[in-house]
Amino acid sequence: MNTDATIFVAGHRGLVGSAITRALLTQGYTNVICRARRELDLREQASVRAFFEQERPDYVFLAAAKVGGIQANDTYRAEFIYENLMMQTNIIDAAYRSGVKRLLFLGSSCIYPRDCPQPMREEYLLTGPLESTNEPYAVAKIAGIKMCEAYNAQHGTDFVSVMPTNLYGIGDNFDLETSHVLPALIRKAHEAKVSNAGHISVWGTGAPRREFLHVDDLADACVFVMRQSGYTEMLNIGSGTEVTIRQLVELVCDVVGYAGTIRFDTDKPDGTPRKLLDSSRINGLGWHAKIELREGIDETYRWFLENHANSLKAL
Ligand code: GDP
Repeated sequence: MNTDATIFVAGHRGLVGSAITRALLTQGYTNVICRARRELDLREQASVRAFFEQERPDYVFLAAAKVGGIQANDTYRAEFIYENLMMQTNIIDAAYRSGVKRLLFLGSSCIYPRDCPQPMREEYLLTGPLESTNEPYAVAKIAGIKMCEAYNAQHGTDFVSVMPTNLYGIGDNFDLETSHVLPALIRKAHEAKVSNAGHISVWGTGAPRREFLHVDDLADACVFVMRQSGYTEMLNIGSGTEVTIRQLVELVCDVVGYAGTIRFDTDKPDGTPRKLLDSSRINGLGWHAKIELREGIDETYRWFLENHANSLKAL
């Protein structure tokens, strides 16, 4: 991937797309193109085709997706399957038709079976039933992976899929209804600290285990994988750092400086009991995560303070 190649980042305003855009610019790529939602609706096939015909990008990072935490996935089930299928299908097909050199599709670790052996290896895909809270999202992502594989097989394209573990970092969504656990806990601990509240409420039992990866590590991995031209095996991208939700809350409270009580609301779902990726395939290619969980949470909290702490009601 030459530094003057035309690179389209689909979803550049999101957590992942914005991190990929930052990484590309930092690494000296000069021709990164992005489109705001009002300029290009990725769910509209004709608009997407016209955009690819006109811009003819060389490389595509497909980071556009409708995403959210456990409650958003479970509540907006139709939107999660419809919007993701539409966006990814339009982009993958238009990329093939316009002769894109290489495309990287962002999947998710929730594509693996709910009761998957841990750590989860790439070959465990489609070996068992999915976790129900995020099944519509997972089915859309599995369709994207299979579409990349099918286009490679039939049309000789160079499309690759990556499966990140649970992500967090600057630019995250801090809305308590729709966010993932880590930004939610940062906000809850911060609000409890400033209002001197005696406790914070955490969803589920605290027993589920999750692996967390800083989004800047993911972006670095995505640019690394894009450069491995001709490599089309699906790749897990994880940090190897796994904690229980209880341990995570304790860590977040420590970083934020909140010393109150933690209450577990067991009316809320736990979701998958454990979700740890086996990242030995990408590690074997020479990529490893660098950002420690505590350091990443500390940085994300500072970003939250600068960007949101004074305007929480506007979230
Ligand atoms: P998941 O990995 O797809 O289940 O997504 P989440 O990041 O939304 O949730 C991870 C785990 O954290 C689940 O067991 C949640 O029940 C738990 N959790 C605890 N408190 C919260 C919270 O305030 N928000 C969210 N989203 N999850 C929470």
